[in-house]
Amino acid sequence: MQKTKLNAHFTLQELTITSYVNLLTQNTKEADRFIVSLKDLCKKILEPIRVFYGKPMIITSGFRGEALNKAVGGSITSQHCRGEAADFIIPSINNMQVMKDIYSKKK
Ligand SMILES: [Zn+2]
Repeated sequence: MQKTKLNAHFTLQELTITSYVNLLTQNTKEADRFIVSLKDLCKKILEPIRVFYGKPMIITSGFRGEALNKAVGGSITSQHCRGEAADFIIPSINNMQVMKDIYSKKK
């Protein structure tokens, strides 16, 4: 599968990933309308975190099109549906630590 880069470290395919494999192709297609938001999310949120730790991040849920959002029982007002949110883990770093680090950098 051809990868579409959103920035240095993230691809469209990473940001549209889902375990609902039957919805994957459709979800990636629907994300086309939200490329600007997804690039912005990568640039302003994900990339600074990626650079801070210098470790790969695993996106567990990024963009959710209508069908996928319904399948996961997401809120209809979810920022995931607008390409403005991503859930992720960083292997070997505790989620709580990541949250604290983000919060301390925000100020
Ligand atoms: Zn989320």
